[in-house]
Amino acid sequence: SKTPVGFIGLGNMGNPMAKNLVKHGYPVVAFDIFPEACKEFQDSGAQVMDSPADVAERADRIITMLPSSPNAVEVYTGANGILKKVKKGSLLIDSSTIDPTVSKELAKAVEKMGAVFMDAPVSGGVGAARAGNLTFMVGGVEQEFDAAKELLTCMGSNVIYCGEVGTGQAAKICNNMLLAISMIGTAEAMNLGIRLGLDPKLLAKILNMSSGRCWSSDTYNPVPGVMEGVPSANNFQGGFGTTLMAKDLGLAQITATNTKTPVPLGSLAHQIYRMMCAKGYALKDFSAVFQFLREEENL
Ligand code: NAD
Repeated sequence: SKTPVGFIGLGNMGNPMAKNLVKHGYPVVAFDIFPEACKEFQDSGAQVMDSPADVAERADRIITMLPSSPNAVEVYTGANGILKKVKKGSLLIDSSTIDPTVSKELAKAVEKMGAVFMDAPVSGGVGAARAGNLTFMVGGVEQEFDAAKELLTCMGSNVIYCGEVGTGQAAKICNNMLLAISMIGTAEAMNLGIRLGLDPKLLAKILNMSSGRCWSSDTYNPVPGVMEGVPSANNFQGGFGTTLMAKDLGLAQITATNTKTPVPLGSLAHQIYRMMCAKGYALKDFSAVFQFLREEENL
């Protein structure tokens, strides 16, 4: 029988990811600081612990799925963090999108305890998390990749080794900068088309068979009524929060500055999502940039 796997962070992504581990027959021991998230998860048959340290006492393989760098630092190195009780030889996989510098620091701290750390951020959104077909971008010691892959394939259909610790984050940051830009572009184009008298469903259909097609237009269209089962069909609830997208664009800015790389559109996208956060969209899905553009109109 399979040994327990720890899972910390049961939010929009963590919850369906952990449920896929349960489906594959892994006993999951979980923790989240938000009691509601734990309760829902417990009802689905998993065991909930009182702290990350307690999870580490029970499981020698742990996945973390947290909002941002400070949360990850807290969960690993905090007063009741994983490192307080981590067993030697444990495999700790962080799937949160965080600063690659922080991933490297966490890897060092984990190594000191005789355990292994890998960064394995994901792409795909909550739909892919539920369906178990996420893409994982994995950084860390290559000899440990197969052990990580065994768990990650329960939640994703693409598990890609990127290189040393932090390179998974690097790949993820590039992807999300492109996604942020393409979502704003899709929202702008869809809105212009609507103003020009086109039916949004028809316009989406045309874009999706033309050279403007992208994930934001064909899988996650931001215009309410164009697609079902996406945040735009549900008042932009759930999905990928605008604060999280602004965080990822901030990471792109930091890493671009450090490497003297020009990212002018990434920079503009960062400012747009930050403005959205200040205008009440912080907890809405990032595709609400369509709604934000409509508000900026001067009719
Ligand atoms: P979320 O905010 O829905 O969930 C995060 C969970 O972590 C929450 O339940 C929160 O209570 C918990 N948490 C925060 N601090 C904690 C702590 N100290 N201890 C225990 N639990 C703690 O976020 P999400 O949408 O699930 O995203 C998680 C990560 O995945 C983020 O880094 C995000 O950028 C990334 N991501 C999200 C998506 C998406 O579509 N939502 C897609 C790819 C990657």
